[in-house]
Amino acid sequence: MPVGQLVALRNKKNGVTVLTPDRSDPRNYLEFQAAGDPGGGDVQYVSEESAASPACVKAILHDVLELETDTMSPAVAQAFQQQMRVAKQQREQAEAQVALTIERTENTDIVGQDCVGPGDRPGKSCGASVPVREAALKDAAPLCPRHSALTAEYVPTVDYNGDKQTTRWIRSRMTEREREQV
Ligand SMILES: [Zn+2]
Repeated sequence: MPVGQLVALRNKKNGVTVLTPDRSDPRNYLEFQAAGDPGGGDVQYVSEESAASPACVKAILHDVLELETDTMSPAVAQAFQQQMRVAKQQREQAEAQVALTIERTENTDIVGQDCVGPGDRPGKSCGASVPVREAALKDAAPLCPRHSALTAEYVPTVDYNGDKQTTRWIRSRMTEREREQV
């Protein structure tokens, strides 16, 4: 395998995506700006090794990142396709297992989340507990009834940390009054 070859990864999401290829090395992470970033921050060049890491393969399978395969050497492209096949198979098997065992509970589990709406003090979030269906955690920001009208202003930041995936919600728009206070 040639050393030092870089491949281009593009963020397809309307929010920031953070990728930590190796969970045991959290200082080594990549941050992708939202798709279409005017400064080109939605594309990062990574080593072929990083591109084939489980975190990266997972982000690609979830349609979060897109790999520009024409920037890869043939040998690595082949190894990568193999990784993708294995990951896809594992996911399908896991999903089939889930469907067999916890199908009924999976979509109805309710979990408590802290409201991410603006709190009474600047820089603090509301924090009121909001019941959210577990299956809907990635669909919308947790917001209490007082802040539910702000839902369109929150964009997700998906964090791929090794094989663990978390979603954080960042407010993308602020009112004029809030801007003045900052
Ligand atoms: Zn709230």
